[in-house]
Amino acid sequence: MKKVFYLSAIIILSGFIFTACEKENEDLTKPTIVINEPHEGEAIEPGEELHFEADIADDTELSSYKIDVHNASDGHTHSEAAGILKSIAHEGDTEEFSYLETFTDAAGKKNHHIHQHIDIPENAEEGEYHLTIYVVDKTGNEAHVTRGFVIEHGE
Ligand SMILES: [Zn+2]
Repeated sequence: MKKVFYLSAIIILSGFIFTACEKENEDLTKPTIVINEPHEGEAIEPGEELHFEADIADDTELSSYKIDVHNASDGHTHSEAAGILKSIAHEGDTEEFSYLETFTDAAGKKNHHIHQHIDIPENAEEGEYHLTIYVVDKTGNEAHVTRGFVIEHGE
């Protein structure tokens, strides 16, 4: 009987130690991002909607994500290290379109499907644009993916 008690105590104790160690393990895994829409190079007309669909996931917990749409006619790129943004001068009555919004509806989840419709104004300046999505997990690990598309009037 005593033996069983000791054995149980050891099992319970080692359970505590194991749990403590687990908590000390740092979460270094970034979230994953798959953009389904728009397709690379897709053309959207001013006055229409940009249809954005993506699946994001994390091995622990997602926290928030940010959708950043901006003009890319200067040919800039987004390296994994840092995104560079440069504003571009424009003429006439069109306006360089940009969109920046942070969402928290994925907080606490491991997987989340994003489905957004972003209005492209009638006076949006035509040209190449980027849609960059930044995803942060509970620990603060960030990942981002950029998709290029074009705003232009159809023929
Ligand atoms: Zn960009």
